[in-house]
Amino acid sequence: MQGNPVGESAYPVNPAGFTIHSAVHEVREDAGCVMHLHTPDGTAVSSSKERLLPLNQTAQLVIPDLAFHDYEGVALDHDERPRLQKDLGEKNIMLLHNHGTLTVGETCAAAFLRMYYLERACTMQVRTRMLGSAEQDYPVAQDVIDKNASLVAGDGFSRLAQHLVWPALLRKLDRTDPSFRN
Ligand SMILES: [Zn+2]
Repeated sequence: MQGNPVGESAYPVNPAGFTIHSAVHEVREDAGCVMHLHTPDGTAVSSSKERLLPLNQTAQLVIPDLAFHDYEGVALDHDERPRLQKDLGEKNIMLLHNHGTLTVGETCAAAFLRMYYLERACTMQVRTRMLGSAEQDYPVAQDVIDKNASLVAGDGFSRLAQHLVWPALLRKLDRTDPSFRN
């Protein structure tokens, strides 16, 4: 948990990457996989005071499980870990302000699907902003937003990832190039 190798490896550890991932693994027994990205659209939304808005269905399925963490500089300092842990709490999706995106899953499938939805929602928001300011946003009724939030309560997202999405992605990979299984 201090970022030191415990076995033989030809590869070094990225200290900043280790701080963020180990913060989650230290406190979340359920975290089988932690993903963290610096994509243009994810970082753009993380750098906006609007944060992620319920502009569309994809965002509405992300927001109920979304947490936020303020930027403290390149994450070389393990002192940041308790603050990241507190900000994440029991949620599984995070915008790291001025930095990027993060998701947690019991499986790689769940972490991947949450990241796919989060990144898609960020791209959709960036495109919506390209069409005009917030006054131009087409409204969504709060009861519709609430109804969609109820769909992602519990383990619905994980089951969707594990039983529907991930197997389909693996079938596609097998058709494209099955050598990843080696
Ligand atoms: Zn990062």
